[in-house]
Amino acid sequence: MIVAIDGPAGAGKSTVASRLAERLAYRYLDTGAMYRALTWLAMTRDIDLGAGGKLGALAEENPITLDEGRVWIDDTDVTAAIRGSRIDRVVPVVARHPEVRAVMRARQRELAEVGDAVIEGRDIGTVVCPGADVKIYLNADREIRAKRRLAERPEIGADALATDLRLRDQSDAERMMPAEDAIQIDTTDLDVDDVVSRIEQLVKSQQPA
Ligand code: C5P
Repeated sequence: MIVAIDGPAGAGKSTVASRLAERLAYRYLDTGAMYRALTWLAMTRDIDLGAGGKLGALAEENPITLDEGRVWIDDTDVTAAIRGSRIDRVVPVVARHPEVRAVMRARQRELAEVGDAVIEGRDIGTVVCPGADVKIYLNADREIRAKRRLAERPEIGADALATDLRLRDQSDAERMMPAEDAIQIDTTDLDVDDVVSRIEQLVKSQQPA
């Protein structure tokens, strides 16, 4: 069974998706981490971030491994390195290239085919796994999303973070459409566990008796 969880930064996707995967004993696939890892590698190698062809080839030559919450690329564990604010700002520039998306989406589909998984991202329910059994679109007021991000990146400061989030929303907008058949959940006033329980119920209702 595939559970797709899409939505903007700070909507609660990672916390909800990883907890849900744990409860269901499904794999947890964080597709944002894949775009982040590629961005990290491109920056480390000083590759022009406007060169879609080169970035697509880089993605092809350096498959990303997601393993129990850790992220690897080019034999390097980049789990911590990809969470910095520099990567936050630049990742949409890399993610927007069609050459990059083609490689990433193919890899994400391969991973999805392995079996049960909770997959989080921006385009999972619409493009990567349009046949997902359960599709969720999480959202929350931007102010709340910025507050949540600030708790994760206290070094940046509230104003800079709000600006970063707004710019990232704009850059990601074309990939942030909810699937027509997605269930939309506004997490602004909700507790993480309530959201997880609600999705868990939806998954269980889809499972054969
Ligand atoms: O989810 P997260 O904030 O880690 O994603 C980082 C970035 O990766 C997003 O801002 C977006 O630019 C890109 N992304 C994407 N498609 C996905 C997942 C993430 O374009 N499925």
